[in-house]
Amino acid sequence: MASRKRAAGVHHVRMAAAQRAPSPGAPDDASAVRAAGLRWTPQRQLILQTLREAGGRHMTAEEVWRAVSEQYATLNRSTVYRVLETLTGIGLVRQTRLGGDTAQFELEGSDPHHHLVCVRCRRVVEISAEDVAPLAERVRERHGYHVGATVLTVEGVCADCWTAPPTPG
Ligand SMILES: [Zn+2]
Ligand SMILES: [Zn+2]
Repeated sequence: MASRKRAAGVHHVRMAAAQRAPSPGAPDDASAVRAAGLRWTPQRQLILQTLREAGGRHMTAEEVWRAVSEQYATLNRSTVYRVLETLTGIGLVRQTRLGGDTAQFELEGSDPHHHLVCVRCRRVVEISAEDVAPLAERVRERHGYHVGATVLTVEGVCADCWTAPPTPG
């Protein structure tokens, strides 16, 4: 697996997303939606496109709604929430709880990765599955437990917050 070695961080995810991005409305998105027995609607297309253009960044439903409403002002918030749920249900979108109250959405199909979440600024950094491979290996040996590809969320303090002076109050 040495050939798959690459720098940690979100860059590989962005690249992967860009390579898969014959937007607008990647044809595989359309066929995936239809294969699930659903219609390929402008709303679904727009939301998938928005997540794709985010380039692997995680977006809350609120952020998706704000981005989408710039192009499509009549689309209301509850529709966006509902479409995100639907797309999650058919496996095109991944919903991740990153320690906070709010779910974050990203396109399914990016490289397997895990999340580091800063408990102070809530910033999310993605690390490759390889970065935690030794841990996963150890867990498998000791507990016979197979760590899922996308479910590890590590909370901590990011480098910026660690070195920042404490805020008064
Ligand atoms: Zn931080
Ligand atoms: Zn992610």
